Amino acid sequence: MTIDRREFLKVSTAAAGAVSLTGLAGCATPVASAKPRVIVVGAGFGGATFARYLKAWSPNTEVTVIEPLTQFVSCPFSNTVLAGTNRLEDITLPYDHVKKVVDTWVTDSVTAIDSRKRTVTTAGGKTFTYDRLVLAGGIELLFDKVQGYDAETQKTIKHAWKASPDQTGVLHQQLQAMPDGGTFVMSVPMAPYRCPPGPYERACQVATYFKRTKPKSKIIILDGNPDVASKKGLFVAAWTKHFGYGSANSMIDYRPNNMPRMVDAKKMVVGTEFDEVKGDVINVVPPMRAAAVCGMAGVRVGLDGKDAPWCAIDYTTFESTAVPNVHILGDSALTNFPKSGSVANNTGKMCAYALSEIFAGRKPDPAPVVTNTCYSAGSDTVAFHVATVFRWDPEKKAMVPPKGANGVSKEESELEMAYMESWARNVWSDTLGLPRDYNFTIKG
Ligand SMILES: Cc1cc2nc3c(=O)[nH]c(=O)nc-3n(C[C@H](O)[C@H](O)[C@H](O)COP(=O)(O)OP(=O)(O)OC[C@H]3O[C@@H](n4cnc5c(N)ncnc54)[C@H](O)[C@@H]3O)c2cc1C
Repeated sequence: MTIDRREFLKVSTAAAGAVSLTGLAGCATPVASAKPRVIVVGAGFGGATFARYLKAWSPNTEVTVIEPLTQFVSCPFSNTVLAGTNRLEDITLPYDHVKKVVDTWVTDSVTAIDSRKRTVTTAGGKTFTYDRLVLAGGIELLFDKVQGYDAETQKTIKHAWKASPDQTGVLHQQLQAMPDGGTFVMSVPMAPYRCPPGPYERACQVATYFKRTKPKSKIIILDGNPDVASKKGLFVAAWTKHFGYGSANSMIDYRPNNMPRMVDAKKMVVGTEFDEVKGDVINVVPPMRAAAVCGMAGVRVGLDGKDAPWCAIDYTTFESTAVPNVHILGDSALTNFPKSGSVANNTGKMCAYALSEIFAGRKPDPAPVVTNTCYSAGSDTVAFHVATVFRWDPEKKAMVPPKGANGVSKEESELEMAYMESWARNVWSDTLGLPRDYNFTIKG
């Protein structure tokens, strides 16, 4: 590859900018390439968005995406599949439009990362070299933290915390097969976890399905946290209004401080510190941490430089504070905003912007803003939301919510259900580059 001088200076300056911004001078490797090579691991909300926007804002960059799945399956709206309102096909979307804009698309899993040599190796045995590596692998579920949750048990007990036919699809079938009067036992992991309102929305959706088809059934929620971890007032109001929560006939039995410590698929029980809870269908979400690829790159490191479940980042570039030239998006990052598809999509764009600035020899915005909007469906007709905004404050060295910028619904409404559906169509289109006339089939 030939590099003309002007181009070289541009990129060297860019690299210097990156070094000074991240405070990694001395260990960062400058990007001395006329056409910087960026590898993106994982094409979920964070990675797919990043890849599309980087190609749009920095077309001279060579972008390679490595993703094992052949189709995108959305976790947002997956609880409505459990309710039978939508089908798995309705939340399964194509990668075709992202594939068209990136330079190389590799359908494979990353199995090794050498951050010194700046190489990534896949299960298929291919090795790729990068100038910048973007890790957007989502979460790793820690089954070994729950006694008995081995490979055999996982055939029966589903987490459905990564939407797929084998998880969401099978859990839906189990709920369909459950007799009226049965018990569904579900869990909420300890915060921080992927999608704080997700488990409480799941309870609403399964209860909606039971109310319609098997009204004598019960839902036991085993929550590891001391209280409802997100939108408490709105969820409790929905449970009360629609499912009799608080009354003797409540369909929902909510148990805080009840972290599942053991599962037994033969006896169909979940063990907590207090007792063993029997269920006809069991849905335990184990503890989680940043994706396995983050472990491979050595970026599961906290702000104190010690090993941690999540990856500390420089908010201006999303670069790891531990390993230079490695950027972390979405759920894997250690942040004070929620782990949501909305944030992953947003941070995908922010990182693409930061790298396009760096590659162009400019410094990225020193005070970036992250936004999150999260809708939850309280039944099959109503929803509510929480919206949060965070701006990096260089003096406080923290992401701070600007005064008056945050909001939460006063109450559930049908209008918000329409907004929720529209949010999903927009975020899927933005993440995957779907055309304007894409034929969505979801129902709110
Ligand atoms: C039930 C439920 C409901 C939710 N509802 C909402 C909602 O309403 N709104 C909202 O904003 N968020 C919601 N979320 C959260 C949202 O799904 C996640 O926050 C979001 O998916 C995170 O995006 P990500 O890019 O970090 O990870 P993901 O979207 O999980 O993408 C990670 C990608 O990395 C790939 N990958 C993993 N390992 C490798 C490897 N070794 N090599 C290559 N590729 C790899 C995976 O295949 C995957 O495609 C919900 C989550 C759940 C579970």
